[in-house]
Amino acid sequence: MQEAALQILRTTFGHPDFRGEQARIIECVTQGGDALVLMPTGGGKSLCYQLPALLREGCGIVVSPLIALMQDQVDALRQLGVRAAFLNSTLDAATARGVENALVNGELDLLYVAPERLLKSRCLDLLDSAKIALFAIDEAHCVSQWGHDFRREYRELTILHERWPNVPRIALTATADAPTRAEIAERLALEDAQHFVSSFDRPNIRYRVVLKDGSGQRALLDLIASHPDESGIVYAFSRKRVEAIAEQLAKVGIKALPYHAGMPAEVRSANQRRFLKEDGVVMVATIAFGMGIDKPDVRFVAHIDLPKSIEGYYQETGRAGRDGESAEAWLSYGLGDVVNLRQLIGRSDAGEERKQVEMRKLDGLLGFCESTQCRRQALLGWFGEAHTGNCGNCDNCLEPPESWDATQAARKALSCVYRSDQRFGAGHVIDILRGVESDKVQRFGHDQLSTWAIGTDLDAKQWSSVFRQLVALGLLEADADRHNALCLTPGATPVLKGERTLWLRKDPPKAARKRGRVSAKTPMAALSPESTTRFDVLREWRATMAREQDVPAYVIFHDATLRAIAELEPRDLDALSTVSGIGSTKLERYGEAVLQLFVD
Ligand code: ADP
Ligand code: ZN
Repeated sequence: MQEAALQILRTTFGHPDFRGEQARIIECVTQGGDALVLMPTGGGKSLCYQLPALLREGCGIVVSPLIALMQDQVDALRQLGVRAAFLNSTLDAATARGVENALVNGELDLLYVAPERLLKSRCLDLLDSAKIALFAIDEAHCVSQWGHDFRREYRELTILHERWPNVPRIALTATADAPTRAEIAERLALEDAQHFVSSFDRPNIRYRVVLKDGSGQRALLDLIASHPDESGIVYAFSRKRVEAIAEQLAKVGIKALPYHAGMPAEVRSANQRRFLKEDGVVMVATIAFGMGIDKPDVRFVAHIDLPKSIEGYYQETGRAGRDGESAEAWLSYGLGDVVNLRQLIGRSDAGEERKQVEMRKLDGLLGFCESTQCRRQALLGWFGEAHTGNCGNCDNCLEPPESWDATQAARKALSCVYRSDQRFGAGHVIDILRGVESDKVQRFGHDQLSTWAIGTDLDAKQWSSVFRQLVALGLLEADADRHNALCLTPGATPVLKGERTLWLRKDPPKAARKRGRVSAKTPMAALSPESTTRFDVLREWRATMAREQDVPAYVIFHDATLRAIAELEPRDLDALSTVSGIGSTKLERYGEAVLQLFVD
């Protein structure tokens, strides 16, 4: 069996070897066993059902809620020479009938079906007259009521097991903690399934957190500039922000498009289409833009506002670099974000308990932002996975931040907030600490306070870093209803009483931040000048191919494949066929054309 699987992997898919758990999963399903697969985004889940479907007799039925993706998935498979089709509400009756006939006549290897369609008795009866290789249940977490992707129809999928007890089932998801996993197993009647849980680490993603420094979108523009002609997603907090930022970026010549749930459906899907098909589109979006963004070559995900939780952040950043090539997750954050989000949670209609949970999640994320620990270690730790740290591919590992004993400074800051009656924002309190004779200071007579000018040892920037971290740590609260007036929380008491020492992160000076931005490109992405020229030629050729066939560019070849061709500079088909991502069908279809590109 392993021999046959490896053979198909190499000839059809053009990959030299299996990744991680793939081989074991494929073996399990091919032999008729059930499997529950947890793999991070980009881990290579599709192969786990596609390959057994090719090895087993009959057609593999893939249940997926992501109708918008089916066309692309099927296009990609057909490029590999696999006989694939889909059934969903976007097909007209005649086309759907054609697909149904093909299924019954044994002319399909893989059929993608939307769950609501599959559950119709007409469709179930149709399956009775076909030979079924396996059922794959993609996005299996949709069965869980607790996630935000809950689909009622997923609960009814147990019918597959009842009606076809001998057909193996494989459920797959990238988002499942242990309780959700248990729920999936129970709800889908997969008690006997073998569980395959992969590490959730995404080693090719470089995590970076930068401070907002009031220079507008300069830092974002620099980030985008460090990814020329590459696709990226910029997540913003509100619809209004999305539109404003998209416009701002477009104005300076960036191919930026907006996406949020308040836009007309046609515009939204047209923008999504362009993002998927064209190279170098930057999508500015709310988190409405998410599930089902299967584009493998998203090179960066930027959060210009604070996400609500580490879970959300990890899922959103996970959309970068699915193809395994280096990618960047970039988050910029400032005190204003904390205040906004806390206010939003406080004002929501949710019950007290729910608000508490959300506040805790936000605190988790703030802790992550301010931490000096390896980002990867912190993120994986949050999901219960151990990592030794020192990943070498996050800001804290690459440019280790310094921390300093800020106990005295924190005491001064906290008592100054207290002395000025907890009625003022950070700016004014910093003026008092530094002895700045502003109008406001004079108006309130604050030069008479005992804390007047006790903090001249730090400059305004350093103080604002202290205040930001005190808020992030929950020692101070900013009241958005009173112009962000700061007040003490019970957490401040031990510091004020001298019972707790406090180490804070030293913010990098501006110059260092700039350097960090320039070095955003990882070595993995570096090509020699000659290879870069070849890569650009290949990309242009690929764009033409994609346009001609009206498919996304990555369906023709992934960036990684183009990069490998550019580096190898193959002279004949044999050499070309050694490149990962070039199976026999693609070699036949495009091989000569690719070689022609480099004939001098
Ligand atoms: P997931 O569904 O888990 O997010 P995909 O199935 O889309 O991931 O695979 C992610 C990427 O990894 C795809 O570009 C796919 O071609 C590639 N890939 C999958 N398996 C292998 C492998 N064994 N070798 C090389 N590349 C692979
Ligand atoms: Zn690290």
